[in-house]
Amino acid sequence: MEKRKEYEDHHRKVCVPDMHAHLSCLTEEYGKGLSMEQARALGEKELEIRTRHGIITFFSCGTPGEWEFMQKYRFPGSGEEKERDILLSFGIHPWHADQYQPEDFIEYFRKCDAVGEIGMDSVWCDVPLPVQRRSFEQQLQIAADLHKPIVLHTKGQEELIGEMIRGFPENICVHWYSGDRKVFDKFLDLGCYFTCGPDMADACVKPGMEPRSHVQQETAELYRHMLKAIPLDHLFIETDGISAVAWAKGTEYLEPEEIPLVLGENLEYAANQKEQSGEEMANQMLHNLHCFLKR
Ligand SMILES: [Zn+2]
Repeated sequence: MEKRKEYEDHHRKVCVPDMHAHLSCLTEEYGKGLSMEQARALGEKELEIRTRHGIITFFSCGTPGEWEFMQKYRFPGSGEEKERDILLSFGIHPWHADQYQPEDFIEYFRKCDAVGEIGMDSVWCDVPLPVQRRSFEQQLQIAADLHKPIVLHTKGQEELIGEMIRGFPENICVHWYSGDRKVFDKFLDLGCYFTCGPDMADACVKPGMEPRSHVQQETAELYRHMLKAIPLDHLFIETDGISAVAWAKGTEYLEPEEIPLVLGENLEYAANQKEQSGEEMANQMLHNLHCFLKR
């Protein structure tokens, strides 16, 4: 018992939140073709790595099926067992807005730590925008009624979403913002929290990929602007899960062991820009997480 406490105390000191992630086995790239047993094994492996590195992960469940799959990990074992370092958001992801009615899953909304990721996306999916918009509006209402914070997916629809959340009464976190600066400033004025995406350190620091493309340069400029502008107490980093990290690095597959490395690189970069040590930054983000959740 003593040993375990020691271990846990140690991890308390160095832990850092991964503010937005998807368990690898639930993503198309990593989960395709796996049996339930294999998916569970891959999930367990990833969670073990995350726990060992003191990562507190906010997993995003974008469908009822993902939410149901993740329940097993939330309170593993019986009674005595401590909750893992896991938080769960639930929301109908804009990519699935034509498949599920939010009001059919009120129980899940009631139990989740935040409502999300919700929003709209006109870049990576073909779901008609009016359908996405209806689903988003319904979920904003559900979150407001249940007094839950929200996590936003805004790809290509930043401006409209910025208008739609005006007056939303609970905390808002914009995940992996990649729109233009002007709209970013609007979200900032609304007092939103932000996550910087897992591509931040690569885009801003690593000169290895010369010549840098126009897109990379723009990404780096946006991140530098964001890091300057986001108050220390509203800043987070995220991986969006290992498949998103692989995508951002332009490769098809990365081992889950890369997760702590990528998170560490981005933590260091953010800390540097904010003139903090890595540990101070990690503690600050942990504090931010508690404030975001109002706990
Ligand atoms: Zn996501």
